[in-house]
Amino acid sequence: MKMKADVAVIGGGVTGLSIAYNLAKQGIEKVVVLEKRYLGAGSSGRCAGGIREQFSTEPMIKLARKSLDMYEKLSDELNFNILFRQGGYLFLAFNEDDMSEIREHVRLQNSLGVGSRIVTPEEAREIFPELNTDGMVGGAFNRRDGIAFPFPVVWGYARAGERLGVEIRKFTEVRDIIVENGSVKGVVAGEERIDCDFVVNAAGGWSKKIYEMAGLKSFNTPVKHEILATEPLKPFLEPMIVNISAGLYFNQSMRGEIIGGIGTHSEPSTDVSSSFEFVKKFAREIVRLVPKIRGVKVLRQWAGLYDMTPDAQPVLGETEIEGFIQANGFSGHGFMLAPVVGELIAKLIATGKVDPLIRPFGFNRFRDGIEPEHTVVG
Ligand SMILES: Cc1cc2nc3c(=O)[nH]c(=O)nc-3n(C[C@H](O)[C@H](O)[C@H](O)COP(=O)(O)OP(=O)(O)OC[C@H]3O[C@@H](n4cnc5c(N)ncnc54)[C@H](O)[C@@H]3O)c2cc1C
Repeated sequence: MKMKADVAVIGGGVTGLSIAYNLAKQGIEKVVVLEKRYLGAGSSGRCAGGIREQFSTEPMIKLARKSLDMYEKLSDELNFNILFRQGGYLFLAFNEDDMSEIREHVRLQNSLGVGSRIVTPEEAREIFPELNTDGMVGGAFNRRDGIAFPFPVVWGYARAGERLGVEIRKFTEVRDIIVENGSVKGVVAGEERIDCDFVVNAAGGWSKKIYEMAGLKSFNTPVKHEILATEPLKPFLEPMIVNISAGLYFNQSMRGEIIGGIGTHSEPSTDVSSSFEFVKKFAREIVRLVPKIRGVKVLRQWAGLYDMTPDAQPVLGETEIEGFIQANGFSGHGFMLAPVVGELIAKLIATGKVDPLIRPFGFNRFRDGIEPEHTVVG
């Protein structure tokens, strides 16, 4: 069997679905999303839902800022309640080196119009009174940051895309990419060949495989990241809390659960099993910071993949293969960037124009020298 599409998007996560929706919105008629499992089966359905503009490099701050602007209007745009709320992100440092990095980041953020501010341990406790500030040097707070519930964002983009004519094929694995004379000609999906001029690699932790299908060496590496949810508690925590010195982050969902993670793994792997080692490490760090949480029950734990790049920043845009477009390598930030990435990748495909916001994230930068993003937590 053979079919023809304008664009084939590989991956039914938040990135692929946002791109597909935006392509249809820009008038591209035949857009097909190919997802090997169900929508949100990758990291999009496993993430903490954090959305922030506090980053450490100018390109990331600008990109994240625009995405946060878009999140503020996303429920209306998609006609779907994504349960977005802006309780802020509170970064905390427990040593001088981390605090001086935070100071530098806030200076850069403020110079670009972000309203983050440095806080003392006492001010941090005013924001979240349950904090144990022993050993805390200080932190940074930005009230405008927030969280959304990941599944409605995935479903909202899928439904809005379908209303505009996007075709979504679940349980359809892309097995090959057809490249002739340096240009994309199509994909092999399931048992079918789909002819198309553009293929988008939005395959998250599996993006490396997709690069290789097209014959490109990939710089991306998947790394397991674990997370858990506790039993529901009365609302007592508004912001996302990040202990940058311990790699710990957590927030409270609208249902009252504490949801959070801590960096535990660094070796490349697509394994998403859960470990007791993670629960112990997370429990030790969160109880030290918020003693009130001692004795709270863990309801469930799970894991997903961070698609890491050498500078912990995404790969966005074209490659040397004409029509082979990248939207991957998001480490712990792909959920928050999906609105802006969807709009600007769609614009690139529809008009050929590379927006200045995505220009710094080109695939070739790994050959040209890089400046890494420092705040990799969710
Ligand atoms: C525990 C955890 C917490 C996180 N917290 C945050 C957070 O607070 N904020 C934030 O912004 N980000 C966070 N992230 C990162 C975020 O989840 C990801 O960056 C984002 O979801 C990436 O979305 P995506 O659509 O690019 O990839 P994914 O959601 O992984 O989707 C890729 C899809 O491609 C499909 N696929 C792969 N190969 C093929 C193939 N050959 N054919 C067809 N389909 C294929 C997969 O099945 C998958 O569904 C977190 C991640 C984890 C794991």
